[in-house]
Amino acid sequence: MKTNNEDLSYIINHLGEDHATYFNAIAPPIIQTSNFCFETVENMRTAFKDEMASYIYSRGINPTVDILRKKLAALDSAEDALVFNCGAAAVFAGVLANVKAGDHILSVHHPYSWSTHTFDKILSRFGISVTYADGSDTEKFLSHVQDNTSLIFLESPNSWFLDIQDLSAIGTFAKKRGIVTMIDNTYCTPLYQRPIEHGIDLVMQTATKYIGGHSDTLGGVLTGSHAMMEKIFKSEYLAIGSGIQPMNAWLLLRGLRTLPARIDRIADSTQKVLAYLHNENKVESIIFPHDPSFPQYDLAKQQMKRAFGLLSFYIKAQKVEEIEKFCNGLKTFRMAVSWGGHESLVIPKCSGMEKSAFDPKEPAHRLIRMYIGLEDADFLIQDLAQAFNGVGSL
Ligand SMILES: *Cc1c(COP(=O)(O)O)cnc(C)c1O
Repeated sequence: MKTNNEDLSYIINHLGEDHATYFNAIAPPIIQTSNFCFETVENMRTAFKDEMASYIYSRGINPTVDILRKKLAALDSAEDALVFNCGAAAVFAGVLANVKAGDHILSVHHPYSWSTHTFDKILSRFGISVTYADGSDTEKFLSHVQDNTSLIFLESPNSWFLDIQDLSAIGTFAKKRGIVTMIDNTYCTPLYQRPIEHGIDLVMQTATKYIGGHSDTLGGVLTGSHAMMEKIFKSEYLAIGSGIQPMNAWLLLRGLRTLPARIDRIADSTQKVLAYLHNENKVESIIFPHDPSFPQYDLAKQQMKRAFGLLSFYIKAQKVEEIEKFCNGLKTFRMAVSWGGHESLVIPKCSGMEKSAFDPKEPAHRLIRMYIGLEDADFLIQDLAQAFNGVGSL
């Protein structure tokens, strides 16, 4: 089922909500309880038979979380969803459930740092190997598949370099070979990219970013077939205990109400900021999937409804101090990790390296990632202009 705007409104405003069971309150209650009681042994027995559909203990299924779970599954046109206490937990559980000792993972190069950590530092201790490869050339990427490859891990677009993968081509290839495909879809959200429709098995998104949208809670989501969700629920989800808490699920439900309005506005503002950056002579080049200069522009147009929010650019700078002056001089843009909230952000790549290692001939050292939030676009552009001016002529 393709989700049109009517479906979207239904999912966000109605699906999974049963007001009569909670005093006809418009806002669902935060069911802050660890356990649930039963009237009879027989009722308890029935619940134990299907833990994934029963309220027994909040490490498993909780009513507040369940409302969110139903909406998130529907947004992805998935049979089911699981909601985690952060994005990293969702990645960890989804990956762990689909590998065993001796298996190989093919991952896109430079995925999110804690996904890398999971592969390199944790799974490697249990005899699971990983190959990182550029996912922009599908044929080359898939040539790294081995007989023991059990999982292909994608992140499209990447949150720093924004490179993308051909989801349909990879999905089709993997299905033929029985390899599970998983994607980190945090950049687009299900509103602007729907990986399950491209044949991807397991979709992860970091709800901390756009679903929360207010920089006040963490959350992570997995969606996929009911069988896949049940497999993860009955093992990793319950064993690690990384399900979301009711209060945080409630914050995400609140965030969901305004998700379409927020991201549409952010997408519009991003276009305006992009136009400004194109005319700013201290900007060497811009990386943005829906910019005609983007090497994978056609594919990005095909599989992503809109690109928005995050973009990266190379600043012209000879010295690291010039980049520092630009970033320190911003008044509205905050310098912080994360994104997807109301506040616009920057993070320069050089903040993650020793100052003495800076080499202006290395473009990556001059990379600045920018997140466009909910402020007025002109207000943001004024701030960028004054910060660029403050650097002086470079
Ligand atoms: C933030 C982020 C994560 C991790 O999410 P947390 O909620 O911080 O655990 C994973 N992938 C991407 C692309 C992210 O931006």
